[in-house]
Amino acid sequence: MTTITRFAPSPTGMLHIGGARTALFNYLYARRNQGKFLLRIEDTDKARSTQEAVDAILDGMSWLGLDADEPPVFQSQQAPRHVECAEEMVSRGQAFRCYATTEELQARREEGEAARAAAKQDGVSESEKQALLRKAEELLAPFRSPWRDGGEPPAQDSAYTIRLRAPDEGHIIVQDGVQGEVKVAAREIDDLILLRADGSPTYMLAVVVDDHDMGVTHVIRGDDHLRNTFRQVPIYKAMGWNVPHFSHVPMIHGDDGAKLSKRHGALSTTAYRDMGYLPEALNSYLLRLGWSHGDEEIFTLDDASKIFSIEAINRSPARLDLAKLNDVNAHFIRACDNVRLMALLEPWLEEAAGGKLDQITRTRVAAALPAMKDRGSTLPELAEAFRFLWTANTDNLNKKARKALSGESLNRLADLREAIAKVEEWSDTALQQALQSYCAENELSFGQVGPPIRAALTGGLPAPDLAPVMEWLGRDETLSRIDFHLARTDMQSE
Ligand code: GLU
Repeated sequence: MTTITRFAPSPTGMLHIGGARTALFNYLYARRNQGKFLLRIEDTDKARSTQEAVDAILDGMSWLGLDADEPPVFQSQQAPRHVECAEEMVSRGQAFRCYATTEELQARREEGEAARAAAKQDGVSESEKQALLRKAEELLAPFRSPWRDGGEPPAQDSAYTIRLRAPDEGHIIVQDGVQGEVKVAAREIDDLILLRADGSPTYMLAVVVDDHDMGVTHVIRGDDHLRNTFRQVPIYKAMGWNVPHFSHVPMIHGDDGAKLSKRHGALSTTAYRDMGYLPEALNSYLLRLGWSHGDEEIFTLDDASKIFSIEAINRSPARLDLAKLNDVNAHFIRACDNVRLMALLEPWLEEAAGGKLDQITRTRVAAALPAMKDRGSTLPELAEAFRFLWTANTDNLNKKARKALSGESLNRLADLREAIAKVEEWSDTALQQALQSYCAENELSFGQVGPPIRAALTGGLPAPDLAPVMEWLGRDETLSRIDFHLARTDMQSE
């Protein structure tokens, strides 16, 4: 049997990282088993579902490369089929028309609560107390409709809902892939509504019918859905369908151990793109957040597709750790192909440079890129590391650079300029040799020679080794940055 998994987000907001992790697990499980990964947009809640949210989900998934194997199913479009299934359950005696009104149910609940409150009052005798508690328990118990065994409607045109005739005996047992065997007593399940009084299907019915119709064999979702599963299993049984294999994955918590919420920072998947994370880094990080394979930390989708298993999903909640995400991102930046990395960096470089890059700067950045990939754990951090390539920072010299460009050092810079200008082949190696020969001839250490050139070339901005920096800047720019400082007089006496 082909393994079929699905991701079933409700389009009521962004694709949050918990959802992205669920999608990832389902994607990987399908890949691992040469199955199919499907997407269903659960847009039955008309008031809260928006096209914007649908677009955000699709955008987030496509950014992460979690492409579904078929076009998405929109749950709202399946409504006639949901109705048909509810009617089928009625005709089989598994569901029934219930004429209890919302007001009656509300009154029943209130009466139950009142009885419970009354039992706690002072001066109530023990026997009265027991009677009140029994009454409360009965009224507040999961609802079993008086119409579950049939019966006439109160009036000819009475509105009705269609409810499932919940199982009376035993337990509802789920062999969960993550939680192990979990069960509830059948009495804990109410005669749940399948079709509302306006004829619209409920979420509980829609999920089951859609999962069945899509041929879903494995449901992997957040453990906040475990309670729903106990209510969904009886619907499968009532329809005579196979129950899929369920796995309920513990939620992601913030670094303080509390459930993830807005105060933990960015929750939207694409916010990570906007902060300069690579999709493969987020995938790798989210995968480890709740799943492990020995102590390996880094996975590509391809690697993980070969080894992902439900058994290795952790049973306890994972904690978000942004420092770790940064490490993973730094890894994937270093591993990134140069051409792709240049394209990814472009908007960040423009932001750092305050406008479009000219051709010369772009060429310098591209030349420096392979050697500088380890200079940032996010794209903006990396872009910032290239700043010395488009500015000599002359108006902004820091203290160290000012010192390196004053007094004796400045005189040395003039000599050095001559030595550098004589280099014929403007390459990293030749420039390095020129600097070394200069040091040897003048019995100077590199520590005496490096600082003034570095200060002249970068104005104190962070930069890698001098020789490659000169190569990337090119002969003209290197010499003109040095000449600028040789010509200035304001610091001669410092
Ligand atoms: N639509 C539900 C949600 O977004 C998921 C339902 C499911 O996975 O069964 O939480």
